[in-house]
Amino acid sequence: MAQPFQALYDLARDLHHSHLDARQIAQTALQHIADLIGTPQVGLVSFRNQPTIQDALIVGHTLTGQAVWQTLLTQGLIGYVYYDQRIVIIHDICTDSRWPNHPELPQTGSAIGLPLLHGQFVGAVLMVLHPEQEFFDADKVELLAEIADLVAVALNNSLDYRGTAEQPERHYFTLFDHAIVPIILTDPNGEIIDVNQHASQLLGYFPHDLIGQPISRIHPKLDINTIHEGQPLTDLPTNHESTLQTELYTHAKEQIPVLVRVRRLSVNGRDIIEWLQQDISAQMTLEQLRRDLSAMIYHDLRGPLHTLGGSIRKLSQLLANYDDPVVLSLLQVGLRSSRQLRRMVDSLLDVQRLEEGNRILNLTKQAPDVLLTQAYELVQPLAVEAEIRLHYDVKEDLPSIYVDQDMMTRVIINLLENAIKYTPSGETIALIAKSQDNYLMICVKDNGPGIPPNMVDKIFDKFNRVNYSNAPKGVGLGLAFCRLAVQAHGGEIWVESKLNHGSDFYFTLPYLIAPQSPTTKES
Ligand code: ADP
Repeated sequence: MAQPFQALYDLARDLHHSHLDARQIAQTALQHIADLIGTPQVGLVSFRNQPTIQDALIVGHTLTGQAVWQTLLTQGLIGYVYYDQRIVIIHDICTDSRWPNHPELPQTGSAIGLPLLHGQFVGAVLMVLHPEQEFFDADKVELLAEIADLVAVALNNSLDYRGTAEQPERHYFTLFDHAIVPIILTDPNGEIIDVNQHASQLLGYFPHDLIGQPISRIHPKLDINTIHEGQPLTDLPTNHESTLQTELYTHAKEQIPVLVRVRRLSVNGRDIIEWLQQDISAQMTLEQLRRDLSAMIYHDLRGPLHTLGGSIRKLSQLLANYDDPVVLSLLQVGLRSSRQLRRMVDSLLDVQRLEEGNRILNLTKQAPDVLLTQAYELVQPLAVEAEIRLHYDVKEDLPSIYVDQDMMTRVIINLLENAIKYTPSGETIALIAKSQDNYLMICVKDNGPGIPPNMVDKIFDKFNRVNYSNAPKGVGLGLAFCRLAVQAHGGEIWVESKLNHGSDFYFTLPYLIAPQSPTTKES
């Protein structure tokens, strides 16, 4: 490919010389793209003057007939770009259902479609094909997106387009019915005013069964009073799009998981809300399979890990009188690592369970001092190894709390291990606990590198890590587990940090009356 900057510059210059003629602009752009990408199959479809495709400009020898473009609009890539208003990439046209079977269309390679916006609608779609699969990588997509922007601006300024901002609106309803995606239209109060063919098929209703009905008839779980950032549907700004995950209730009483894109439009002076439906049942099934599979793996790892830990423990006992310090220290390392692995696997399982909304069942009454001492003792060898002093500041008479003992110990260990990991040797880490109002407040203080202000909330999300130079290894799951576990106990977790001065991780646990659970027992 030629140098991107040079290519964009050449295109901008030639577009400038296109004398504001839409057809010439399109032809110039297509020729540039064909040369740049090295493919003869480039096309630009415009929705300007006719209800359906008016101009299907192409470069190369194939895809000449209007019928091909019409098929791509009603059954394929162009339709998806038009309705989704975003770039669609088909990495393998042989297997992707968005690529229709048509004798004039190639059936191998890859394709990309890019929207050229004209006001609030897609005024044209640029499509590029390539005989290789997976051809459109991130760099090519970025370059084509820049080209599409340049061409869109040139087209919108062209003499033919000027003063036609309302034109694409006129076509909206004609294209709507044949749209490739299921769409429902309502007024701003949520009353259904139209349903396209795809939506009607998916729902199993005739359009006239639904017209005049509230949107809650098919989306009973959506609250139109809090549809957009807690605001009602009537306050949705024009052209703003909100994406919501919910279920679509069909005539046959099926519940289809969908991603709904809600957009407010002004069409021919009419204020309408477009509800674009994307069936996500397949993704949900796959996601569930993935979750079940990982849960099974984590679960099955626990057995061998337990045996491994038990064997090393037994071996240490048998060798208690052995006087080779190297052997004993190796056994200690093995024991510690197997415990650490077990904690990791347990936390991964807990993350899954808690994310699924499962409640904590095995709450037991614990004295904070006992719980914290246990965690403190478990990380002590790690601190000694890292030459870090652990300062313990917990009063013995703190009121008891009801917690899942194993889970809470892992939360404290996680925070202590992080502090040890990030603190330079020779420094001190403190574990502090005190009562505050009706809560027990625990704090782990360190003198490590601190956390940048923009990351203080993000580090509690899964897989988020700060980019320190020479940062210790990790995957970014520990704090996500801590937050889920603390919140499931009714508490909060946060960090107060100053860059280059250290971090104070706090979490609270409510002093509750003994929960009324059959599984609750005194420790
Ligand atoms: P991991 O340590 O496996 O990366 P965590 O979820 O425990 O995952 O931590 C997420 C990120 O938060 C870490 O990668 C690190 O960037 C930052 N972090 C956590 N604890 C500290 C700390 N005590 N000091 C500085 N940064 C920390």
